[in-house]
Amino acid sequence: MLNRVPLKAKSLSRYVRSMGEEPIARIEQLAKAFQGARVLHINATSYGGGVAEILATLVPLMKGVGIDADWQVMYGTDDFYNVTKAMHNALQGMDVGWTPQMEQIYMEQSIFNVSQLEADYDFIIIHDPQPAAFLGLVEEHSPSGRQGKWIWRCHIDTSTPFAPVADFLFPLITDYDESVFTMADYVPAEQDLPHVTMMAPTIDPISLKNVPLSAETIDAIFDSYGMDHSRPTMCQISRFDPWKDPLGVIDAYRLVREKVPDLQLILAGSMASDDPEGMHYLHRTEMHAAGDPDIFILTNAQQVGAIEVNAFQAGSDVVVQKSTREGFGLTVSEALWKRTPVVGGNVGGITLQIKNGENGFLVDSVEACADACVEILTNPRRSEMMGEIGHQIVRNNYVMTVELERWLQLFALLSS
Ligand code: UDP
Repeated sequence: MLNRVPLKAKSLSRYVRSMGEEPIARIEQLAKAFQGARVLHINATSYGGGVAEILATLVPLMKGVGIDADWQVMYGTDDFYNVTKAMHNALQGMDVGWTPQMEQIYMEQSIFNVSQLEADYDFIIIHDPQPAAFLGLVEEHSPSGRQGKWIWRCHIDTSTPFAPVADFLFPLITDYDESVFTMADYVPAEQDLPHVTMMAPTIDPISLKNVPLSAETIDAIFDSYGMDHSRPTMCQISRFDPWKDPLGVIDAYRLVREKVPDLQLILAGSMASDDPEGMHYLHRTEMHAAGDPDIFILTNAQQVGAIEVNAFQAGSDVVVQKSTREGFGLTVSEALWKRTPVVGGNVGGITLQIKNGENGFLVDSVEACADACVEILTNPRRSEMMGEIGHQIVRNNYVMTVELERWLQLFALLSS
């Protein structure tokens, strides 16, 4: 077995209060056909980043509706994670100098993992490129061989991949029973993927990260980090990663401060175990902040957990997600759910969530980002309206009950 993430069932009825009875009844009806169905999710990390965030709710909810759902994390080595991080960067368009040795490291680690896999499931959902090769290896290397339906769930923006890595990865996917992408733009054009579904990631509206917090709690959390909630605040919650552009956020903050002198900036990012670049980029971000006492750079090392992220997103006047590539960007929906307008990079999944000028702004440069932040920070009435529209967009499209229903529909399709 791979590393099982122990999770308890979460009852769907707990969502009635925030989502209403109708979607819950639809989900219960769909779930009737899958009582006791065995579902295995496999990914590369149990902590840090959007996929872990989604699975931490989706798997308990699947259990809650009667599915025998399981989440297992693959085994990796430093070499393997360096290769898969390069692969991730390449799929998002970076020229990474891909070598046969990297392919060998990737395949050897995949074979080892598959040899540990008990693959006797009705549905196996493989998340992202790290475990993508498993399907092609199960017949030969897994004790149970190929059983059940195999689904590849790609969370990243693969619209303009670096060709050598695309040519290596995508042939590994063609045999899956279904591939799931966040947006149609991400489906590889040249590839013969006969079965493709579009599905957006979602947030858990009743998790500690997203439940409403009292003003006192937000004040206290700001205070505990030496920040002042009564001052104008912008924040970006993201891994320290070049694609998230934390350096660009600092540059934008410096421009905004010319108009909003009292501004403070929060940059909070957890360190994922499968992200070897994180520490290096955190250091670069700290250097770029150059000791500015109004820039608060925080990680899980300072105990930034779900409730702190919640307080930062709810207590900020504007949330930024200045990515230059973004598969989806859960942080955008998280902030909008709390009625905080978001200024986001005009890329990928961010464009699904932000309607320019309605619930935030889509921007292509540091200057545009700064202008959009000033607009929000200096127009409280407009900002309030944007926050309300943002909340409704998330409620209708990007909450976990919507995603659970989509998965059940997909299972039904694959079983017909
Ligand atoms: N996150 C967190 N703590 C942090 C930074 C990020 O819990 O310090 C969470 C964030 O709230 C979101 C997820 O990590 O739920 C990041 O997902 P997203 O889709 O935005 O980006 P990814 O890391 O998957 O590229």
